[in-house]
Order: sequence, then structure tokens, then C-alpha cells
Amino acid sequence: MPKSPRIRIPPEVRKYVHQRDNYQCQSCNQTHHDTHLTIDHIIPLARGGTNDISNLQTLCLTCNQQKKDKIDPRFRRYFES
Ligand SMILES: [Zn+2]
Repeated sequence: MPKSPRIRIPPEVRKYVHQRDNYQCQSCNQTHHDTHLTIDHIIPLARGGTNDISNLQTLCLTCNQQKKDKIDPRFRRYFES
């Protein structure tokens, strides 16, 4: 499977994802009042993730930087099975 290119996420898509996630970090639950929110690829592109909205989530800058290319534990089984 070819890797998805790392494209710039359009503003409308960022807004949609943030709205869907109630402007809250999906890891630590801080809101946009407390922190800087970013868009994260749930399954990293480097691991075969896509740029589809279903693979995008809201993370604050801190959680996003801590995550880097690690797989979310909730998806680990998917990769190990
Ligand atoms: Zn966070």
C-alpha cells in the first residue's frame, strides 16, 4: 500500500475536526481556552494512515509532540494481530 502524502490540512477540515471534538484535546481533555489545539493523524501517515477525516483527531500541542510516531494504544491490537 503506498503511503499517503503529508498534505497541508485545509482550514475547513481542521475546523470540522475541532468542532466534532468539541474543541477539546482527545488525550488530556484540555480545551482551546487552555491550550493550543492541533490536528493529529490517529494512525500516523508513516504507518499507513490516511488523510481521511476519520483518521484525524484534535490534540493539544503538548500531547501531539509527546505522541510523535507512536501508535495510539487503542489501535495497537490492530497492528499486532
Ligand atoms: Zn492534550
